[in-house]
Amino acid sequence: MINIVLFGKPGAGKGTQAMFLKTNFNLVHISTGDLFRKNIKNETTLGKLAKSYMDKGDLVPDKVTIDLLETEVDQNHQVNGFIFDGFPRTKSQAKSLDNFLLKKEMSIKATIALEADDDVLVKRLLMRGETSGRIDDQDETKIRNRFDEYNQKTAPLKSYYDAQRKFHSIDGIGTVEEITFRLKLLIDSLQ
Ligand code: AMP
Repeated sequence: MINIVLFGKPGAGKGTQAMFLKTNFNLVHISTGDLFRKNIKNETTLGKLAKSYMDKGDLVPDKVTIDLLETEVDQNHQVNGFIFDGFPRTKSQAKSLDNFLLKKEMSIKATIALEADDDVLVKRLLMRGETSGRIDDQDETKIRNRFDEYNQKTAPLKSYYDAQRKFHSIDGIGTVEEITFRLKLLIDSLQ
């Protein structure tokens, strides 16, 4: 089983690359952002709560995010592994994920960061916002707030996974195909 965490700032290309990894390695892709957006679309209680944070570019509280993730994992049986996209984003989420997987005799194989410069990411996100309809992609202040959340709460996970010798990073600048190639090389080397 191969469980991978895709790590990186908003706009780094996690979702795009997860689509490739999913097909290539026959994995289940779980994006907490997508799950929240599905809940918002369906106007669930969780969706309403999540929206109040997401629209500002703030992180949704850990408890609801962790519960959501665990429920989603539990719904998938007999799989080759998971790609966790946008989760964990805090140390508490990372610890919960490790404990949750341990109970199932599973573990994270690798955490892979897609690295890119903030200014490049802002341009990418504003462009995405023109077609995605995502409120959090349409305003540079909200985008910069998401980067602040990342720097404060998510970036410290590098040392958490480093301590487990599971942290890897690749250059997230280039064409989609180039980045996919770098990812594939890295994942093949892990197996
Ligand atoms: P994403 O689609 O991964 O860029 O996530 C969009 C938004 O959903 C984030 O800015 C957060 O508000 C929320 N979100 C997604 N994943 C998480 C998470 N693991 N923890 C807290 N909030 C999250």
